[in-house]
Amino acid sequence: MKYTGSCHCGQLKFAIEADIKQVVECNCSHCRRKGVRLWFTSKAAAHLVMPEGSFSTYLFNKHQIAHHFCKTCGCAPFSIGIPPDGKGESVAINLNCLDEELSLDGVDVVHYDGINH
Ligand SMILES: [Zn+2]
Repeated sequence: MKYTGSCHCGQLKFAIEADIKQVVECNCSHCRRKGVRLWFTSKAAAHLVMPEGSFSTYLFNKHQIAHHFCKTCGCAPFSIGIPPDGKGESVAINLNCLDEELSLDGVDVVHYDGINH
């Protein structure tokens, strides 16, 4: 199934083809504040639209994940994981930024204990 999503004002976008069986809710200090629901894929498969100058990036902890957010509306539709070798970037899609709300019927909600990792 194809899904599209964006920040609230529509500058940052993603498009994925996915069979979403599982979402991750993380309790770390960052995810808890933003209230994200995550689904992971590769950067190549996420079809990201990120116009130059439209976003800012928040880094914390080990600086392994680039938490991008829209400079205009503040929404964070995705983050990009940066592996140590710089190859094979992964993307955490925030399913709360889908254009249409995702039904969680039949979807496993995995609680990741990020606060203790
Ligand atoms: Zn925006």
